[in-house]
Amino acid sequence: CGVFGIWGDADAAQKAYWGTFSLQHRGQESAGIGVLHDGRLAVEKGMGLLQDAVPQVVQDLAVGQAAIGHVRYSTTGDSAPVNAQPLLMHTRFGPLALAHNGNLVNHRSLRHQLEAEGAIFQGTSDSEVLAHLLARSRRPDFEKALLEAASRLSGGFAFVLLTPEGLFGIRDPFGIRPLVLGRTDQGAYVLASETCALDMVDAPWVRDIEPGEMVKISDQGLVSQKFRQSEGARPCAFEVIYFSRPDSRHQGESMHLKRRQLGKRLAEEAPAEADVVVGVPDSSLPAAMGYAEASGIRFDFGLVKNRYIARTFIAPDASAREKGVQLKLSAVREVVEGKRVVLIDDSLVRGTTSRHIIRLLRQAGAKEVHMRIASPPYLEPCHYGIDTSRAGELAARNLTVTQLAEMVGADSLAFLSPDGLTSALGSSGWCLACFGRGYPVPVERPVEM
Ligand code: 5GP
Ligand code: SF4
Ligand code: MG
Repeated sequence: CGVFGIWGDADAAQKAYWGTFSLQHRGQESAGIGVLHDGRLAVEKGMGLLQDAVPQVVQDLAVGQAAIGHVRYSTTGDSAPVNAQPLLMHTRFGPLALAHNGNLVNHRSLRHQLEAEGAIFQGTSDSEVLAHLLARSRRPDFEKALLEAASRLSGGFAFVLLTPEGLFGIRDPFGIRPLVLGRTDQGAYVLASETCALDMVDAPWVRDIEPGEMVKISDQGLVSQKFRQSEGARPCAFEVIYFSRPDSRHQGESMHLKRRQLGKRLAEEAPAEADVVVGVPDSSLPAAMGYAEASGIRFDFGLVKNRYIARTFIAPDASAREKGVQLKLSAVREVVEGKRVVLIDDSLVRGTTSRHIIRLLRQAGAKEVHMRIASPPYLEPCHYGIDTSRAGELAARNLTVTQLAEMVGADSLAFLSPDGLTSALGSSGWCLACFGRGYPVPVERPVEM
């Protein structure tokens, strides 16, 4: 998912719309905007892309001094209108709009407990848990209640909450899910999942919200508090490998350049005898360019993407996904015919994408296809908000590299090593749980097969 928030701007609603629009790649199942105006909160949301879910932003939500936005893809809870966000709740502290990215690993036990105490949940997503914890808190004021509620959550999460009192941002104690802070020339504060959304509203990046930090932004400025002591940052490596937009930055460093670095390192670790380097658009193109640069093999556009289809991975079931790949990609015969192709992808999860693409390349006349993956084998399911589904579907978990090559139909196959990944990512401390390097936050129940 993607979250956005802005406080103290006369065009808050419009800017939240633009900012959220720039995060559209983070989820296409539902979207919404919440606006604060004269102490009242209004939310518009619906299924699909932001432009379909909230077509009337200018007319209906135009006035306001603060706003939040959300785009969703489901990790917990169904892809249903009731789970669309921002959630609008009324607690004894007043109205509250909430937008959430990530996944709470203890949501089942918290929900169970809350329901036993009489809470009635509207939807099936885990995002509501925070609102119910707040509603049930005995703390005298909202801020204390929020700190207390946040301290009970575990997992990977970033929340943006809007109340008449202020805009609040919360980031999980390991900083697994991203949340950045920006500020416009006019002094409005902005919170967003990625820096591309800050760029969209001309709010230069100030800093990241820290792991375990809660910020309150109001007309009195920004106040920072810790709801939990962090044991060190472990941001999601997959944000860099695949999820974030390439023009976004992590700690001031370009995602695009980091991906190119992954490709360079991959070329050093896993060279191939070939005539042309082809990347799977769009997410693998920077890595493919890096591979070409380091190997001296020419880069070309051997695959074309139909832009009018949402990210296939995000389609909730397997058959929809399979058809999605077909609709999405086609091969350029003139680039690959009679050629030995190095095919670069950013990741291999289920292997269905690769199998289909290799078939396409061969149909277009490719003589050999050497598949190179710009990340290590994906071995464990993510429990922190990236939907890579169940362990049983993860191809690399059950097959050797040779068997994988056979399954996807490649002449050869190689992955980036975990050390290669961390050295290309730069800085230390990443979540690498899905690559078998251990879960920073223990998961609540045994992994399903
Ligand atoms: P698979 O191997 O499961 O067929 O798919 C891997 C492809 O899915 C890669 O090209 C990657 O870019 C894309 N992809 C889309 N969304 C996601 C996601 O949320 N996680 C991962 N790991 N890959 C994704
Ligand atoms: Fe990201 Fe993988 Fe960690 Fe999930 S397990 S947060 S996808 S690095
Ligand atoms: Mg891809």
